[in-house]
Amino acid sequence: MKRRKFIQAGALGFGGLGLLSSMQLHQFKDQFSEETDVTMPVLFVGHGNPMNAIEDNEFSQGWAATGKLLTVPKAILCVSAHWLTRGTRVCAVANPETIHDFGGFPQELFDVQYNAPGSPEFATTTQQLITKTKVELDNEWGLDHGCWSVLNKMFPAANIPVFQLSIDYYQQPQYHYELAQELKALRKKGVLIIGSGNIVHNLRLFTMQDVAFDWAIEFDTKIKELLEKGDHTPIINYKTLGKAAELSVPTNDHYLPLLYTIALQEKNESLRFFNDKTTAGSISMRSLIIG
Ligand code: ZN
Repeated sequence: MKRRKFIQAGALGFGGLGLLSSMQLHQFKDQFSEETDVTMPVLFVGHGNPMNAIEDNEFSQGWAATGKLLTVPKAILCVSAHWLTRGTRVCAVANPETIHDFGGFPQELFDVQYNAPGSPEFATTTQQLITKTKVELDNEWGLDHGCWSVLNKMFPAANIPVFQLSIDYYQQPQYHYELAQELKALRKKGVLIIGSGNIVHNLRLFTMQDVAFDWAIEFDTKIKELLEKGDHTPIINYKTLGKAAELSVPTNDHYLPLLYTIALQEKNESLRFFNDKTTAGSISMRSLIIG
């Protein structure tokens, strides 16, 4: 949003801006802007149990509160732990379906439809931005639960276009970090980028008791400290972090979205944590916002 245009709009009879909430103000700005001068923040969200999509709990409340804090994005790009492919794909579907990619949950969860539009335009922009590999436009994927379970609480109106970028599961962590850096321009175009996974994610050792394993706390804390220092190299090379890393990241599908988020951090940008709790013994819900 160019400031000049904003002031002009104010002069045209929208003088009561002081009465608007910040959210309304953001919507007002969004409506009247052709381009944005806001660099959107970047999020990593620990999504955990799909039931968070419909439960009112401390995690879903954290997502809702975060959504209210954010400038309304022009679109949302989600990199979810649940879209793993050979090669990199970007979903270019105009009306993405809500994919219920899980089993054994109540019907109420299967009934959720997150009917946000897609963004074929931003999908194409994303395809063009990435030079590290040839990105395929995908016309079959929709929104998997790593994406919609969070957005259902964060942006419940489902009126912001959403599109997903897949994770090439045949590549090493460093590759993903470098690829993600090519997405930086999207932030300046008003796109909110969300990595959705979990820093600690070991379903094999999942427990019904809400006491975190020592190794889960150890790894989560280690990653937190590295994030605070902006020391990304050991985060990328997490396999060097010992037994706790081995147990916390038995497969890296839920860890890799974190690399997509932190790769977008500029040197002068701070980060803030939310939902920083480990649940079910072996699932860290630690989430962060950059910028
Ligand atoms: Zn998941």
